[in-house]
Amino acid sequence: MDMNTESARICTVAAEHTTGPPYRPTGPDGPNPERTSNMNVCVVGAGVVGLTTALELQSELRNANVTVLADRFEQDTCSDVAAGLFRPGTSFSGPTEEITRKWISDAYSYWDELRKTAHSVKAGVCQMSGYIFSSRDPAIVRNHYIEKVVPVYRAATEPELRLCPGEWKYGSFFTTILAECRLYQPWATERFLENGGQIVKADSLNSFRELDGRYDVVVNCTGLGAKRLCSDHKLVPIRGQITKVRAPWVKTAFYADFDTYVIPGFEGVTLGGCRNYDSYNTDVCRHDAAAIRERCEALLPSLKSAPVLREAVGLRPHRDPVRLEIELVATANKALRVVHNYGHGGYGVTTAPGTAKHAVQLVRDALKSNSKL
Ligand SMILES: Cc1cc2nc3c(=O)[nH]c(=O)nc-3n(C[C@H](O)[C@H](O)[C@H](O)COP(=O)(O)OP(=O)(O)OC[C@H]3O[C@@H](n4cnc5c(N)ncnc54)[C@H](O)[C@@H]3O)c2cc1C
Repeated sequence: MDMNTESARICTVAAEHTTGPPYRPTGPDGPNPERTSNMNVCVVGAGVVGLTTALELQSELRNANVTVLADRFEQDTCSDVAAGLFRPGTSFSGPTEEITRKWISDAYSYWDELRKTAHSVKAGVCQMSGYIFSSRDPAIVRNHYIEKVVPVYRAATEPELRLCPGEWKYGSFFTTILAECRLYQPWATERFLENGGQIVKADSLNSFRELDGRYDVVVNCTGLGAKRLCSDHKLVPIRGQITKVRAPWVKTAFYADFDTYVIPGFEGVTLGGCRNYDSYNTDVCRHDAAAIRERCEALLPSLKSAPVLREAVGLRPHRDPVRLEIELVATANKALRVVHNYGHGGYGVTTAPGTAKHAVQLVRDALKSNSKL
């Protein structure tokens, strides 16, 4: 994508946007501050993690000049493939359980606040309720991370267990949030530019040393790209495939055994899915597509008449734990501080705002230690 054209388009849309007051980051200095730009921070990566981190930096570091640099944007990122339901997997992990829980509750607050603003529709954020069913194990329908975070998480009743065909023994009903990146990423880009940020479309970075001397701190939100950029062998792709269909009558999300899910969104209903560990195959596989369709139609037979809107594949950047830490990279100019924020696996939309907040704290620490260099 040509980012010059894209930025121009985004700015035009911003000027025409009349559905609500501009969404300004809030912070100690109040909204829309003058930027004195005496610090330069570069976020590498324009997926949901990079853009959310960039907005959080603008909100919290009022005298920072923030740039987002990436080789791929919007529909070319993994984030674009996600249905975007706020539902961390129970195996999702930060460095400690306490920190992980804080990321998740901070993230929920961010999405919940955004959904209450006039920007919610344009940002692709809304409330969503759904069921998770299993015929295998009661643990599958529980989620220790969000049972106390989302407004409703309860056991499904007997009549509810019979809502969908299948011998469902266990089930839960929950109300959570949907953040659809197809809408959120353009919205976040528009906000970022409006707040004075810069977007740079670059070739894929081979080393952080290429940014030496230009920025005080670099934040690494490169998702799976960090595997090569940081020689990180702990980072593994988990391939996922989805089919989007037109089925406006589906208003509730459903999860079932064997990675089966039906998630309504703003632009269609997402049918999934699969998890292929350590697979780099980005091609749509017709066998996966057929299996997804069969499992989803068994769960909701009305989907049989739903036309396909698109099929897509994404490689989830899985790392245990997510990497959120400062690294001092030796350079010709002494050292460059890099804050890593990647490895969110299948839960990057859910958790991006929580890890973004943590990353901003690490950027503050990095800037303080820079001044002591
Ligand atoms: C099928 C599927 C369904 C999903 N459903 C959900 C869901 O319902 N809920 C949920 O929370 N999550 C879901 N996910 C997971 C979610 O999509 C990911 O966790 C998230 O997109 C990761 O975001 P990211 O910003 O880290 O990476 P990406 O979106 O991949 O962005 C990485 C960015 O870094 C840039 N980059 C990488 N390397 C370099 C380099 N060397 N130089 C310059 N730029 C670089 C890229 O160009 C890109 O801009 C799903 C994923 C898949 C595949």
